[in-house]
Amino acid sequence: MRVLVVGAGQMGAGIAHVFAAVGHDVLLHDVSEAAIRRGVGVIEKNLERAIGRGKIEQTQAGALLARITPHIDITAPADVGIAIEAATEDEALKKQLFIALDRATPSEAILASNTSSISITVLGAATTRPDRVIGMHFMNPVPVMKLVEIVRGLATSDTTFAAVRDLALSLGKTAVEVRDFPGFISNRVLMPMINEAIYAHFEGVASAEAIDTVMKLGMNHPMGPLELADFIGLDTCLSIMEVLYDGFADSKYRPCPLLKRMVAAGHLGRKSGRGFYAYP
Ligand code: NAD
Repeated sequence: MRVLVVGAGQMGAGIAHVFAAVGHDVLLHDVSEAAIRRGVGVIEKNLERAIGRGKIEQTQAGALLARITPHIDITAPADVGIAIEAATEDEALKKQLFIALDRATPSEAILASNTSSISITVLGAATTRPDRVIGMHFMNPVPVMKLVEIVRGLATSDTTFAAVRDLALSLGKTAVEVRDFPGFISNRVLMPMINEAIYAHFEGVASAEAIDTVMKLGMNHPMGPLELADFIGLDTCLSIMEVLYDGFADSKYRPCPLLKRMVAAGHLGRKSGRGFYAYP
């Protein structure tokens, strides 16, 4: 099947990678050619690492890359079976993209979003096919992490759900069905923990390293919450907290002022070179 991936950032590149790896042709779109090239560059680097570890052959990597084609114009007709949107976590932006995808793809195509928290029902309502709109929430890094949270909007049909679940399984992933509530399950549970760790740091309870050490050695988490926030991207973390805060209208989800300040300063974590830690 042909797949259109919208957004070639850390998630979009990973999604393009896993679809191409099992033989799908992938169209990869972002705001500019340079952004698409950056995404393809990330895939190339990951493939080089996999070759180095003996996990795949050079020829397989070449074939995988050859299945990924840049798609510059989002309004150009795209003959695909599914489009997966993985652009910046912003409701207004995603709505615009769903309107564009609804126009550019065949009417029977499924439109999926990799959103971490935004309502699938709202995105579906922006289209003429809410029954074929669904959340396909991959985890970071996509080629490594097994889980896909499959989010059913109010209007998502059983047929769409079954098709997307089977697609996730065909990628070697484990699919979990969740309903459309703010943050779904993953970020409703994870993000308040990260936000609380940021509050503890903000209030001077402990250093970032100390907080991460407590959670790694004390709770057996593979990464500390602040290290993980840097990995996810602090802008994405803030957007998710805002969706939880607005969606539940409950003060327990208020984003920490330090998180807001860091995003305003452009300290977005790994992707900008600086967050709770420095990435020279
Ligand atoms: P990112 O910042 O790495 O990438 C976002 C990409 O979207 C950028 O390349 C940007 O140029 C592109 N973009 C912005 N506006 C666009 C537009 N109008 N059209 C096309 N592309 C556009 O962010 P990311 O971490 O890849 O996150 C993308 C999505 O995946 C978000 O919805 C996020 O919530 C979700 N997500 C992120 C993680 C994570 O750990 N980072 C995990 C699961 C889901």
